Amino acid sequence: MIANCQSCGMPLSKDENGGGTNLDGTLSGEFCSLCYKNGMFVDPDFTAVEMQKHCIQKLQQRGIPRLLAWFMTRGIPKLDRWNTSK
Ligand SMILES: [Zn+2]
Repeated sequence: MIANCQSCGMPLSKDENGGGTNLDGTLSGEFCSLCYKNGMFVDPDFTAVEMQKHCIQKLQQRGIPRLLAWFMTRGIPKLDRWNTSK
């Protein structure tokens, strides 16, 4: 099982729903519940850069300094969702 959401990088252990859901209602194990619902991405038009900005905003709303938020999200473009060369 993958430890981090392959869309936003959040640890799946921190996901209160345990992960996103596939079309058949099972847990995806690859994406978190904020990114992935019922077999579809919640924000299908996001690019990696937009996802990173979105996550930085969310982290700042939770009181995390911008620099630290950037540091925590800088791996996002390398995640499977954005890595189309695979
Ligand atoms: Zn996610």
